[in-house]
Amino acid sequence: MRKLLDFLSSIYNEILSYFVPERVSYEITGECKKCGKCCNYMYSVDTYTEKEFKIMQFLFPAYRRFYIKGKDDEGNFIFACKLVTKDGLCPVYDKRPRMCRNYPAKRIFYPGKLHEGCGYKVNIKTFEDYMKQE
Ligand code: SF4
Ligand code: SF4
Repeated sequence: MRKLLDFLSSIYNEILSYFVPERVSYEITGECKKCGKCCNYMYSVDTYTEKEFKIMQFLFPAYRRFYIKGKDDEGNFIFACKLVTKDGLCPVYDKRPRMCRNYPAKRIFYPGKLHEGCGYKVNIKTFEDYMKQE
């Protein structure tokens, strides 16, 4: 019976490993210097075509403030916000979308990188750090 449960448990974990995305946890320190780079230069992890972007804007009206600014060397879209001022400030700061409030995210699907000169710092936890916490 024990072996059967172990077997079922390993099957269950194997299936989960295909459907539960691996996430990376960071510790974020520092503070915003209000340079506006993150409002003028952003990536999306799930928008690869203009049609997908239009669908996202239809589903999430808050995304209508964003536009496609160009593409990077690898062909990924670079987005920017129509609202950010020339000084890099947010004119709707108290009503900015959740994605803006959460930036930089502490827990994301893919390892991220901050803009050069950003006042925040990403501290990646090593395996040893996790072991020390236990
Ligand atoms: S890039 Fe960093 S410092 Fe500049 S506005 Fe965004 S969060 Fe603030
Ligand atoms: S809504 Fe404000 S914080 Fe969000 S991207 Fe636009 S200017 Fe930046």
